[in-house]
Amino acid sequence: MRGHRGRSRGTGPRLRRHPMSPDPLRALCLGSLLASSLALAGAEIRIVDANGRGEGLNDGTPAEPVGGNPGTTLGEQRLMAAQYAAALWSATLGNGVSVSIRTEFVDLDCSGGSAVLGASGPTQLYDSNRYAAALANERAGRDLEPGREEITARFNARVGKPECAITAWYTGLDNLAPAGTTDLASVFLHELAHGLGFIKSATSFRDQARDDTSGVLLSQLSSADYDAAIRRPSGVSWIGPAVRATKDAVLDKTDGLMRLPDGHTFPVARARFGPGHLSVAGPVVLAQDADGGTAHDACGPLVPSPGALVLADRGLRPDAGLFCFVAQRALNAQAAGAVGLVVRPIQPGTGPTSYTGDAGPELVIPVWGISSADGAALEEYVGDEGGQVEVDADGRRAGENLLGDVLLYTPSAYSDGSSVGHWDSSASPPLLMMPTINPSLPRNLDLTPAALKDVGWSPPAGLSIGATSLGPELGEERPPRFIVHVVNRGAETATGVVLDARPDPALQLVSTALDCTGGLPCTLGELVPGAVKTVIVQFALSGGVPRRAAVEFRIAGGSPPPPARDAVTTAVATRASGCSSAGSGPGGLLAFLVVAGFLGRRRPPRSR
Ligand SMILES: [Zn+2]
Repeated sequence: MRGHRGRSRGTGPRLRRHPMSPDPLRALCLGSLLASSLALAGAEIRIVDANGRGEGLNDGTPAEPVGGNPGTTLGEQRLMAAQYAAALWSATLGNGVSVSIRTEFVDLDCSGGSAVLGASGPTQLYDSNRYAAALANERAGRDLEPGREEITARFNARVGKPECAITAWYTGLDNLAPAGTTDLASVFLHELAHGLGFIKSATSFRDQARDDTSGVLLSQLSSADYDAAIRRPSGVSWIGPAVRATKDAVLDKTDGLMRLPDGHTFPVARARFGPGHLSVAGPVVLAQDADGGTAHDACGPLVPSPGALVLADRGLRPDAGLFCFVAQRALNAQAAGAVGLVVRPIQPGTGPTSYTGDAGPELVIPVWGISSADGAALEEYVGDEGGQVEVDADGRRAGENLLGDVLLYTPSAYSDGSSVGHWDSSASPPLLMMPTINPSLPRNLDLTPAALKDVGWSPPAGLSIGATSLGPELGEERPPRFIVHVVNRGAETATGVVLDARPDPALQLVSTALDCTGGLPCTLGELVPGAVKTVIVQFALSGGVPRRAAVEFRIAGGSPPPPARDAVTTAVATRASGCSSAGSGPGGLLAFLVVAGFLGRRRPPRSR
């Protein structure tokens, strides 16, 4: 994500691998809890609290309820944000087999101007590493290994502490994280998607990714060719039909195409500052210093270039610092009479960059980034023919290749935690599955449900519901509470949508909150495509604390009506068993832990 990469180069997201060890005692306890909670339709995605007493999800520091999160301690609010995300994925995927996520807050890296926010992945792959555990279970229609969590997820407990004040967690459920904070629910949504199968270690993922140079799928490449392909910026794209069918409705058509008279076409990325869409045509000239200097970086005053598109080099000093900001180069080009600026990185293997910065309102000419390779070709063309070009300012969607397929993140400097398993950072608007997190990501989860469909899930195509218990496990002081999402995954607006519940006889409805405050059944009304309605439902216990308390939530009315499979979900609150926070390691043998990266300051750093 542009603007949130960090203060300096090399501070992007990073990977942490954590060795895992099986924990048979934990596994048995979990198995006994979940064995009875399988349902034919609408099973839970469940957070399993793996933190010890007083830590992470059990941190007892008092906290004021915030943004619809009713938790009253730090730990409870974190847990509820996780449960919010788990239930939203359940509603979105319509899973029929339960999924358990071993979740904990631990100290992850925070240094050099960035912080790892989270790391997650499937605990196991099945079918010769083809499917993530949760997806393998779903396809089998049963839990292939009862007692083993399907996903393990870790979040950085240091974030927000004085030692890691880059950002702070926002635990509200309203997607309104204030500046300087990171929306915890969004980070959970991101990490859970990795665990559900958006992860490069699964063959079903690499089956959807094509090396655009050879036209061969990543899963079919030799290891040497694979290693080369995943280091070619803008060189690997997603060919899955669900993403192809969805991306036009998601990605902005904001990036440009530069066309040469000979038919050559170069993708260019519009800067995040300066004027909006402006198409221009004119001769391309190499930036020439007015004082006779030999650099072509446009960092100082330029010789007059009226009506031209100035091509500027962007290199780095030996200490990796900047010579000047791109915004300054743009103002210099404008002062020389240019109609636009094209910036070409000298560093090889850099794709078209959408530069960030602030040139103020006086900048009226457009600024585009071009890849280093295309920039070199353009320079050659300029030298040979002094050529005319035209730039179609909205000729392509931001984040696509020239074929119109969505690019994966493949920087030339490979990062095990970030490369391949995320969308390219040129996409706009920012996507959930980019290597670093962005504010205000939409709760329709943009391209991610389609990508999960491409890897083998069967998400619903209309109204759908998902729920899970909310807050810590059942206890004397903790009557059962649930969080429910109703989502519209269809293409038409749904109307007259009603939410109802059928609880165990031992439960009495006390109250409802968020999108429904008048009890149940409750009219949620209209849901436009992609809309999410969220309800918190509080029950009281009529007798003692049962071992488990189940509630079937259902969409009781709505047009168009959802298929029966998608209209019902069952959530179960369980009594604290002594198992849930035990254990020292995830129950898997494979380490697929991937970071989300970081959200630095909300004000984007200056362009480099
Ligand atoms: Zn990630």
